[in-house]
Amino acid sequence: MTRSQPGPGLAQGGDWVRILVTNDDGIQAPGLRVLARELAGLGSVLVVAPDRERSGTGHGITVHTPLRVTPVDWGEGIQAFTLNGTPADCVKLGIDALADGPCDLVISGVNRGPNLGTDVLYSGTVSGAVEGYLQGLPALAVSLDSFTSREEAYVPAARLARNLAEKLLGLEAPLLLNVNVPGDGQARGIQITRLGVRKYRNVFDRREDPRGRTYYWLAGEAVDLDLSPGTDARALQDGYISITPLRFDLTDRDAMAQIRSWEGELWTSLDGKA
Ligand code: MN
Repeated sequence: MTRSQPGPGLAQGGDWVRILVTNDDGIQAPGLRVLARELAGLGSVLVVAPDRERSGTGHGITVHTPLRVTPVDWGEGIQAFTLNGTPADCVKLGIDALADGPCDLVISGVNRGPNLGTDVLYSGTVSGAVEGYLQGLPALAVSLDSFTSREEAYVPAARLARNLAEKLLGLEAPLLLNVNVPGDGQARGIQITRLGVRKYRNVFDRREDPRGRTYYWLAGEAVDLDLSPGTDARALQDGYISITPLRFDLTDRDAMAQIRSWEGELWTSLDGKA
């Protein structure tokens, strides 16, 4: 692992690393500040976060409008910027344009609310970490199973993130972890889990605007369809911290052979002229 030099204004230390911190709740979120503060003891912290809440933006990126960066004065030796983009934008721009050297680690969170099962595909928090991982860095997404604004509630999750960060930095090959922490500060232990399955029920509220036109409002609530032992949702429900290692090869290898048997027929049906 490449070790970076201390950032400007930071105390000289031994093994300083450059840590990029983002979230999807926006720069004002309590979980972000608590996380950045906790990590400041570990290395040089660069915060690049959306200028507003961007939960549910998944891995979206901004390609048709300019990205505007605004420095934010956080003090405490933490460099912070806001961006009018998504978490994936923040990580891309942070790594490529804002960091004053190579980043060693990306951490996203601490999110207000859990990110479990199939939700990781919609989650801006997880996507922030995924972006770091896709760029070859170890990465961590951390979420709290609570929607509180009290900063203290995020402290245990931020401490865990720091401890996990030290582990990740010591590995040869980068890992991507999705971490969910119970919201009451009373975790019973830690479980290493797989993703469960989450769906949304009663999703669309059909309404009418003042001009009589129909519109829809995405509402409804997440329902866990897979609470079997070993899943992230089950661990959290049982009061445990859940840690799920993720990877992003979505290829269905078992299906490849099956689809391959269609190859000849599909090609013939095109007269071989596609
Ligand atoms: Mn969020």
